[in-house]
Amino acid sequence: MPSDPEAASPAEDWEARTDAAIARYQKYVNPGLANLMKFGGFGALEYSAEGSLIRDAFGNEYVDCLGGYGVFSLGHRHPKVIAAVKDQLDRLPLSPRVFFSEPFALLAEELARITPGDLQYSFFCHSGTEAVEGALKLARAASGRPGVLAAQAGFHGKTLGALSACGRDVFRERFEPLLSYFVRVPFGDADALAAAITPDIGAVLLEPIQGEGGVIIPPPGYLTAVREVCDRHDLLFIADEVQTGLGRTGKMFGVDWDGVAPDIMCLAKALGGGVESLGAFMGTPATWEKLFGENPAMHTTSVASVLAARAGLAALEVTQEERLPERAAELGAWALERLETIRAAHPMSVKEVRGKGLLIGVEMAHRDIALLVIGALAMRGVVVAYAFNNPHVMRIEPPLNIPRDLLERALNAVEDALTEAEAMLEGITE
Ligand code: PLP
Repeated sequence: MPSDPEAASPAEDWEARTDAAIARYQKYVNPGLANLMKFGGFGALEYSAEGSLIRDAFGNEYVDCLGGYGVFSLGHRHPKVIAAVKDQLDRLPLSPRVFFSEPFALLAEELARITPGDLQYSFFCHSGTEAVEGALKLARAASGRPGVLAAQAGFHGKTLGALSACGRDVFRERFEPLLSYFVRVPFGDADALAAAITPDIGAVLLEPIQGEGGVIIPPPGYLTAVREVCDRHDLLFIADEVQTGLGRTGKMFGVDWDGVAPDIMCLAKALGGGVESLGAFMGTPATWEKLFGENPAMHTTSVASVLAARAGLAALEVTQEERLPERAAELGAWALERLETIRAAHPMSVKEVRGKGLLIGVEMAHRDIALLVIGALAMRGVVVAYAFNNPHVMRIEPPLNIPRDLLERALNAVEDALTEAEAMLEGITE
């Protein structure tokens, strides 16, 4: 590919290539998704990305306020992550899985050091849903009970085990029967959680802040109360930090807001530094012994990407060095204030603005407004999306190191996009 699409080939080449790629998505990938993207304002070919900017094949630039649903906490192509991955690429990209891997050893040690409490061991995988699958097996092995309490509107991935915990019927119903003994309780209510415990229940699986549920922040003290319920009833607390982990909410981990330590933790998304795909589930020595004590091959996967391990190590280093959790807290507080002013100016369209750190949700009065605003923002060179489990909510989830002026540009565009969406809706209803 040429480095500069505009200079290297005439615009009509890219138009033809874009049309051809969309046609191939329609024919070979996912027709519905292709149509949704095309008509939602994302009908271009992605071309390159750097920092908080994405460029399409026509040379248009977009401020990335979606951040790959939480993947790009370090932005795109962070130089330290790229350097680590390039160094590894020339030596040994994938582990042959016969000798020890130093990057994986170092990464596991560093994760044990920065995570709360007694979390010590890590199993590495490739995605968030895989991390949740492993965590569920770990919980079953360690508790000896199959049941899991999860939250309404919670999201943990779409493979069958993770889907069993998912709190949105539309994703689950067609695949029932899923895993049995999964019970969903209202998020943020520790009494409801305690009341739902039966002898089959062995674990509680929660996001510290619900991301896909529409950026739902539980009342202060909720996670502490959940920890107490777990201790009282001998349940394992699984924290799904796939989206909230590694600085996103303004602390290194979402559970840090209440200062509690889970027994099991799931990580992914930002763990790969925005360059590689990496997930992990972690456990305490007590849980690990139950899963792997008798048979070290009780849970495995063939592919171990050393590139991903190097990316992960670099990501943890950058996150701490650049104080990204603190930065997310500061910038997030400022962004929330700005969005609150916008909400006050558009009270019929925007119901609520909420967030922690740079995990921000703008709840619209209607999902059509959310869709129109997201499309209007794309036209203005800003990328956002709605929450999977709550399409009324437009999420703003930029890289944690986004320059303030870029975020300001994006938030100004939100205001313009809202005005345009309101005018369009008025035109339709007149
Ligand atoms: N857990 C949480 C909290 C998530 O937000 C997600 C994805 O959005 C997942 C798990 C699934 O991760 P992945 O999409 O990498 O499979």
